[in-house]
Amino acid sequence: MIRFFILLLFSIALFSSEVENFRWLKDETYLVFLEKHNLPTKELYYNLDKDDQRLTEEVRSGVHAQILRSSKNEIEQILIPLTDELQVHIFKKNGSYEFEALPIISETKTEAFSLTIDNSPYYDIVKKTGSKKLAQIFVSSFKNSLNFKVDLRSGDKMAMIYEQKYRLGDIFSMPELKAAMIELRGKKHYIYLNNDERYYDENGHEVEGFLLASPVRGARISSYFTKSRFHPILHKWKAHLGIDYAARRGTPVQAAGSGTIVYASNAGSYGNLIKIRHADGYETRYAHLKSFRNGIRKGKSVKKGQAIAYVGTTGRSTGPHLHFELRKQGRAINPLRVVQVTTKKLKGKEKEAFNKLKENYDQSISLHVENNTLFERTKPLESVCYLILPKKV
Ligand SMILES: [Zn+2]
Repeated sequence: MIRFFILLLFSIALFSSEVENFRWLKDETYLVFLEKHNLPTKELYYNLDKDDQRLTEEVRSGVHAQILRSSKNEIEQILIPLTDELQVHIFKKNGSYEFEALPIISETKTEAFSLTIDNSPYYDIVKKTGSKKLAQIFVSSFKNSLNFKVDLRSGDKMAMIYEQKYRLGDIFSMPELKAAMIELRGKKHYIYLNNDERYYDENGHEVEGFLLASPVRGARISSYFTKSRFHPILHKWKAHLGIDYAARRGTPVQAAGSGTIVYASNAGSYGNLIKIRHADGYETRYAHLKSFRNGIRKGKSVKKGQAIAYVGTTGRSTGPHLHFELRKQGRAINPLRVVQVTTKKLKGKEKEAFNKLKENYDQSISLHVENNTLFERTKPLESVCYLILPKKV
């Protein structure tokens, strides 16, 4: 308890005056950041082992970081989140700077809201919550099993329960959907995150969207799947057994689904190529890559949405783009046609456990719908402030 108060006092002192909060600049590298602040690159980068060096490459633009300065305006400590779980801590010790990776202390809150849909789920969620992330996870969770455009009627309701992490009072990381409901012409459809970390519908059928909407976030489709088309370089009709996403060189490419990397190397006309094997005989391919992400190699398992490579124009290619393929048992199929891949149906004890979880969520959802629970963000206590810990003596 005493320790807590000391920390709290320390934190208040810290955060009232000398801590500068800032957002990581787009495209700024860790090294550039060090140089910008006249911090020693030798101690804080070049002398680090490979793993730590690689870790520093994970820093993402827009992330909230902190600098603590002394009364003489000298940098005392810096915190930079790298992943959901790790952050870089730069601190001064005996006059020189040191580097360490520290776990991130974050607070997870369960939040929920319900609303009546006037326009579209995406539009209405953004309008009511101001959060595109919430709208995205809601829409994408149903996207492969339901067709909002056709079946939605004005006045239908939706509700979602999700977990949101907070770090130093700010929203941190992607929200995680726990349960959601959408009415389509008055009929309620549900999705639940089960204890096995997969999503299921009300019948215990797995409904997680197998593929991401696009393996390159926000990219435009420049060429669709076709069994024959005219090739601009070869001047020949060729099949285009994939989808091309036009994007700038270096744009991250995400795994369209969870699976195992079975190929990550150069493959002639494909250029740098990654192949991922998924459940049920599915395989995705990512071609013309500029380069692979660190640690991406054959045999490694990846999660849906994980960045695996960067858009490039290697191999036979007219300009930077991602050539994306989906294959089932070796045969190319149109990725845009894959609406749903049911990979698991719960049975027996698993089903029983799921039903219990479902019951709880159903009760909660109907309460939120009845009460028309409004979206509300409760600022967490500043208790997480002691993130910047004094070094242990
Ligand atoms: Zn292509």
